[in-house]
Amino acid sequence: MKILKKEFQWASPLIPLDLTKITGIAIHHMAHQTAGMDEIHQWHLARGWKGIAYNYWVDYDGNVYECRGLNAGGGLFDPLNDVVISIGFQGDYDKTQTMPKKQFYAGCEIIRYLRGIIPTITTVASHKHWQTSTSCPGKYFPLEEMIQMSELMTKIKDFDDVSDWAKEAVLNVYEAGIMIGDDEGRFNPKAPITRQEVAVIVDRLLKRINS
Ligand SMILES: [Zn+2]
Repeated sequence: MKILKKEFQWASPLIPLDLTKITGIAIHHMAHQTAGMDEIHQWHLARGWKGIAYNYWVDYDGNVYECRGLNAGGGLFDPLNDVVISIGFQGDYDKTQTMPKKQFYAGCEIIRYLRGIIPTITTVASHKHWQTSTSCPGKYFPLEEMIQMSELMTKIKDFDDVSDWAKEAVLNVYEAGIMIGDDEGRFNPKAPITRQEVAVIVDRLLKRINS
C-alpha cells in the first residue's frame, strides 16, 4: 500500500500528535455517495474547521491519502482527537450495501499500517463507538470483516511483498490453510514452488473436497 500525499490549504497550522498517547482508530464514512476528498475539505472549512477532518482518506478505487496525517484530526469531539486517529471512507454506507473490493482491502491495509507504527492502539472501532449520536460509518460498512482481514494481513510478515492483484487470493488461501507460509511466518510470495510443495497443496484441497 502506498500512502498518497496531497497539499491541502489548512485554515490554521496542524498540531502534531503525541503518538505515545494514541489508543484508537475511528472509522468514518461520508454519508454522501459521490463526494470526494476536495469537496469534503471545502465542507469542513465551511464549518469553521482547519479543513478535512480525517487523518487518512480511502476512496472507492482503493487510493489512500494522507490528509491530516499524524497531526491532530477533527473527526471526533475534542479531546478524543488527541488520542484517536480518524480514517474517512468515501461513500454512504447507510445507503450503499456493498463496498468496492479495492476500497475494502485498502481500508484493511491502512489499519494494519497504523497499528504497525503505533503499537499503543488497542481499539479499532466505528465513529459511533465513541459518539453514539451518529450512525457513522453506516449500517452496511463491513467493519468487522475489515478488522479481521487486517489482522490476517498482520500474520503474514512479508505481506507487503504481495502484488496488489494477488492479495485477495493470498489472504484466502492462507485463511483456508491451503498455503500457510514458512516457519518464520513468511509467505514468500515471489519464490518458486517445488513439485512436493504443489503435492501438499493439492493434497489439502483433496482432503477439503472429500470431507
Ligand atoms: Zn464519522
